[in-house]
Amino acid sequence: MNIHVLPSDVASQIAAGEVVERPASVVKELVENALDAKAHSIDVEISNAGRSLIQVADDGCGIPAGELRLAVERHATSKLNTAADLFRIATLGFRGEALASIGSVSRLTVISRTADAVAGARLFVEGGHIGKVEQIGAPLGTMIRVEDLFYNVPARLKFLKQDITERRAIDNLLARYALAYPYVRFRLIEGNTISLQTTGDGDRRSILAALYGVDVARQMLEVSMQEDECSLEGYISPVALTRSNRREITFFINGRWVQDTPLNSALMQAYHTLLMVGRYPIAVLLLNIPAEEVDVNVHPAKAEVRFRNQDQIFGLVLRSTRRTLLAFTPVPAVASQNLWTNVPERSQSMDPAWSLGHDPVGPTSTQDESTEPFQQKTLTNLPLLRLIGQIGASYLVAEGPDGLYLIDQHAAHERVLFERLMAQAESSKINSQALLAPVVLDLPPASARLLNDQLPYLGKFGFQVEPFGANSFQVRGMPAMFGSTDPAAALRALVEDFEEDETPLKDEIEAKIAGRVCKRLAVKAGQVLSVEEQRALLNDLENCASPRTCPHGRPTMIHLSVAMLELQFGRKGPR
Ligand code: ADP
Ligand code: MG
Repeated sequence: MNIHVLPSDVASQIAAGEVVERPASVVKELVENALDAKAHSIDVEISNAGRSLIQVADDGCGIPAGELRLAVERHATSKLNTAADLFRIATLGFRGEALASIGSVSRLTVISRTADAVAGARLFVEGGHIGKVEQIGAPLGTMIRVEDLFYNVPARLKFLKQDITERRAIDNLLARYALAYPYVRFRLIEGNTISLQTTGDGDRRSILAALYGVDVARQMLEVSMQEDECSLEGYISPVALTRSNRREITFFINGRWVQDTPLNSALMQAYHTLLMVGRYPIAVLLLNIPAEEVDVNVHPAKAEVRFRNQDQIFGLVLRSTRRTLLAFTPVPAVASQNLWTNVPERSQSMDPAWSLGHDPVGPTSTQDESTEPFQQKTLTNLPLLRLIGQIGASYLVAEGPDGLYLIDQHAAHERVLFERLMAQAESSKINSQALLAPVVLDLPPASARLLNDQLPYLGKFGFQVEPFGANSFQVRGMPAMFGSTDPAAALRALVEDFEEDETPLKDEIEAKIAGRVCKRLAVKAGQVLSVEEQRALLNDLENCASPRTCPHGRPTMIHLSVAMLELQFGRKGPR
């Protein structure tokens, strides 16, 4: 093939690929345009998670009829003149690419009216072909309608995730912009339901409540710090309120949502030693610094930025969040949090009758060691182990034919319970216990949709949960083995597990539910076990199909072989 310049429709599809990856990226560009137009109110309407329709209507300054065709051309913008402007950008847009990109991969309609125009104007773009501007009656502001996204790029369509995932990306995006722009009224509508609505009255905490529930919103700590020309504002969670993923850490830099930033590590450093490994805070932080201090022209979707003076900004974030945390966290509590966050008191987590050796899950066929056929043990690929004892109230020590085994009692018990529970769920043997009074659980919209999808699976494990109005559920029963666990907390923890994984398969869903249940019920690190309990645990582990890892994939045991011991003691060594 000889070298040739690409036809313009091909070139613009390539460019579009950088800006428009999924429905949420369209929403982001359109919302940013509305914000740049100084809108006070932004209505987003979608159907099929944005695949068939994304419509964003604002009451901003509008686009003059004479500039409408330009607005949808590539590299056409009202926000930038000279190259020097690139280094002091005060608007969210500046590349002049969004509308052109969106127009090249969808059917786009723009309707707009400026304050001084008597009528509005409308323009269609279909797969990059720009139509004629027509006069039409329209309210002040701009309405952009994107239909059939990627209808002409089937390859892109294939890469879209399930509706629920794409939808969640849109929910999360709008929620974050709502938090960053509390004086703008946001609405997200699908069909007849409004799933997000803010008042625009500037009250961030009420938006937090809409997103995370009143409980979480009340606990969040306010950060507010001004240093020279820089300021940091927002909310961070106290050390006791954590998530299992980083997804709830949000930074806005000069009004722009920036996902991948070294500031995330500054925040994590502020929590250093205060959180358990694998736990992350919830945070919404808004950094404002002089425009010249930050280069936003690094990434086509503008999701990354560079700082002129990164250390200074890093320090600012670290200091102000750390100060907030320490001010709100009594020091002794921190120390104990550090070790046992998430580990409830023994009396709460385990009914005394469920101590190890007794069966917390109910009768099973594999439990009783005296009736256990010998053959089953050889199947487990664990050698026969002789118990030596417990150390640190957390690990069992055992001897095998080839050295020493250290067993994590919590992980091992999780594995034992997990296999038992999965088998019982399979044969519908899990008992549900009705609550004396049903509990109502309110969730943020995205989490509510997640939980809704898992309801049939939850039933199998003894959770009786029913939808109860928009984003609410009624919990009527819990697995009997849960005892007096707080039902709302247990379900929230479950939802959190699903948030980590965008689109779990059916089998994974059940495994996840079982995994979470086991985590709650398993004996904890720090719990002293009697010799009988230790022996029972070891024996149960030997009978597991996959004894070497816990349901979450972490090892249950460490093996120190005789050869390795000899090496370590200098008896034998590599020559
Ligand atoms: P950019 O935002 O980078 O300038 P876009 O392609 O997103 O590029 O938009 C092109 C131009 O169209 C903008 O510079 C702006 O003048 C105009 N525009 C787009 N959306 C709106 C809107 N909602 N209200 C007013 N003007 C808009
Ligand atoms: Mg733009």
